[in-house]
Amino acid sequence: MKKLYFITGSQDLYGEETLAHAEKDSKAMTEFLNGRLKDVAAVEFAPIVKTAAEAEKICVKASADEDCIGVIMWMHTFSPAKMWIRALQALKKPMLHLHTQFNEKLPYDSIDMDFMNLNQSAHGDREFGFICTRLGVKREVVVGYYQHEDVIKQIRRFAQAALAVDFGRTMRVAMLGNNMRDVAVTDGDRVESEIKYGWNVNYYGIGDIVEIANSVTESEIDGKMKEYSEKYEMKTDNIAAVREQAKYEVALEKFIERENISAFTDTFQDLHGLNQLPGLAAQNIMAKGIGFGPEGDYKTAALGAVLQKMAEGREGATGFMEDYTYDLTAGDELELAAHMLEVSPVFAASKPEIQVHPLDIGGKSDPARLVFDGVSGEGIAVSMIDMGNRFRLVCAEITLVNQPKPMPKLPVARLMWKLKPDFKTGAAAWIYAGGAHHAVVSTALTAEDIRLFAKMTGTELVVIDGKTDLNSFEQQLEMLDTLAGLKK
Ligand code: MN
Repeated sequence: MKKLYFITGSQDLYGEETLAHAEKDSKAMTEFLNGRLKDVAAVEFAPIVKTAAEAEKICVKASADEDCIGVIMWMHTFSPAKMWIRALQALKKPMLHLHTQFNEKLPYDSIDMDFMNLNQSAHGDREFGFICTRLGVKREVVVGYYQHEDVIKQIRRFAQAALAVDFGRTMRVAMLGNNMRDVAVTDGDRVESEIKYGWNVNYYGIGDIVEIANSVTESEIDGKMKEYSEKYEMKTDNIAAVREQAKYEVALEKFIERENISAFTDTFQDLHGLNQLPGLAAQNIMAKGIGFGPEGDYKTAALGAVLQKMAEGREGATGFMEDYTYDLTAGDELELAAHMLEVSPVFAASKPEIQVHPLDIGGKSDPARLVFDGVSGEGIAVSMIDMGNRFRLVCAEITLVNQPKPMPKLPVARLMWKLKPDFKTGAAAWIYAGGAHHAVVSTALTAEDIRLFAKMTGTELVVIDGKTDLNSFEQQLEMLDTLAGLKK
């Protein structure tokens, strides 16, 4: 079980009684929060911090504890912040600064100096905030009574983002083949990805999959076909093509397990030894939480795995999507997102159909794939790009909509959505920001979740939402370029 340390700051000037009181309160708060958050991470009480040595000790411990995904800090009393300098310099885990109190109401009738000295986070949290700002410590400040639902929700969101960052730290990503020839935006600095996020991204020859696929037995394929027929509607007579995909999926699953892989890419330009591009196989695997990026797009694959981890336990769908084409009817513009084959069935509005059609690219046999219409509702599209001297996340809020008419001749799964704040602004902002044609789309996560991830990992983030103004947005990009240049 992953955990969050609940660290309460104080000092040794107050005397035994006050400190004992602080400890009792802090334990009660830890217990309460643990009760509400333990499905995501355990909240663990840490002894009250009174000195610089104690502060450093607990921050070093949190940083070294591989089960610790982050810390919650709260100053019950005043806690002179010079005592936090070494501690904060040593802290390597995401921090949530909880600006709260043990008491919700002010006890007007009974309040005296003792009460005020014990319950002075309005005072102590400002002192602590100063030193965090002075040291440039990235943290999430959450304000409010710790039992209020909105506060618990914010802590939960932090915990989920911290869990995803922690997951990425030891994540392995396989590139089956390399980046699609000549494509720029899907490429990237894999060493930098590992330095920044921990993502260990390695190339494998497609022959590694072919070798496993060749040893897949007919009964293993039968088992996979049974899974398909339970989950999907078989809408083809070309069962051999479907069995071919079943064989690939069994092989991919074995490879994923053997290599401890959480995300993978492939590319239609490197399929030597495979008769079809993995379509159905990749789609069914994606729905099991494995990140996927086509055409060697390792950033999207890895980001997909991390964001699926972040969304665990939430309603909604998360997966890879590609911007494809538009309906440009003035004032009612819609985007159609799809891919050659690989759209995750988590986005299906109804039971997906297994169909077999020609691919028209790559010169291979007709691949089996899942075809369906997509879900509707509020969501986000997130793209990670490599700016050369830093990564940038582009996050756009979108509204997924039902497709206005059937598309009987389109043989791939698809989603449709509206851009914010309006089509022209949303599309122009995305293009100015350099956002890719590949993204991770989620109806489970919000821009707030991405903001937390960006903060915890020190990643540049631009958000396109209902308030985006193109002029300010371009100025923001200009400023980010300038700042990144100064840091070089
Ligand atoms: Mn693509």
